[in-house]
Amino acid sequence: MSAKTILRNSVARLIFQMGITRPERCSRGRLSIVTFHHVLPEADRQAYPYSGLVVTPEELDAFLTYFTVHFDCGALAAQHERYLSGETPARPLLALTFDDAQHDNYSFARPVLARHHVKASFFVPVVAVERQKLLWHDRLGFAVLTLLKQTHGGREQLMRILATAGLSASGPHSMVSNVVGAAKELTLEARLRLVEALAEAAGATPAPEFARLMTFEEIAWLAADGHEIGSHSMTHCLMPECDDRALAYEVAESRRMLQARTGQPIETFCYPNGNADARTARAVAQAGYRRAVTTTWGNNGQDADRFQLLRYDMVARRVQDSSGKFVPAQLAFRMSGFYPGLGS
Ligand SMILES: [Zn+2]
Repeated sequence: MSAKTILRNSVARLIFQMGITRPERCSRGRLSIVTFHHVLPEADRQAYPYSGLVVTPEELDAFLTYFTVHFDCGALAAQHERYLSGETPARPLLALTFDDAQHDNYSFARPVLARHHVKASFFVPVVAVERQKLLWHDRLGFAVLTLLKQTHGGREQLMRILATAGLSASGPHSMVSNVVGAAKELTLEARLRLVEALAEAAGATPAPEFARLMTFEEIAWLAADGHEIGSHSMTHCLMPECDDRALAYEVAESRRMLQARTGQPIETFCYPNGNADARTARAVAQAGYRRAVTTTWGNNGQDADRFQLLRYDMVARRVQDSSGKFVPAQLAFRMSGFYPGLGS
């Protein structure tokens, strides 16, 4: 742990004890929204390319224990409407969201949510679910991991493919995270070409079973539990890259299909990768949604744009001490207006 992190964590504990960062004080009168992706046991997290996107069921349980003490928790549609009506409960409003419709949301998050009597929102990339085909960043991630594990020239092959795409694997994170970050800068066509080239080079090794997406049947069960289902587009494309026609398809068709599959009104849109601009937000509004969420860090006040709501991404290791124990003060600090005063 760096000296800066140790200092920041000490300050977080101190000001939490003083009550300064307690949600009841800092987040009152605002709508906080938290984001999760995968919920997987530790062994699966180790085998997943982007461990920062995974919390274990035990970690999710710790998050929910904290949230239910300090916040009034629920699905986004309900919490947002309460917020808009001017409700300011003693425990501030918080909405829980899960992106990408991973199967583990059904198998691992659902029972934890039930135990805490909390409803959440699940955002579904419709075509990926329909075809049961992994999202491009997962296909890329598993292909890179497979190539790195190959003893006979896998790494060289990976470097050759990256060079052909004009990318480098260097950067501040793990190699696979650097590659996915660089791939996001490519045009849609070049990115898909890269994913196909990597998948082909990695061979027929199937992605592990834990990485699969939910089925529509499982999604309908979540809806029947009282959870909110929202759209995460048709193809999980980066929306600002789409022309007007593609944009209309991504937002309107996904809404129509999800309404048909769940029998629930689909009112919330979640921008893939959080990418939104004024034009995409307009398309979402025109398609009949009532709100949309980005991945921009923060909570929402009365001046919030309902089609570009801010969210807090939940990364387990950032709210744990060096032994992996959940530290409420660190989460409170991150979700207070004081963060990131001492750096991230
Ligand atoms: Zn996504």
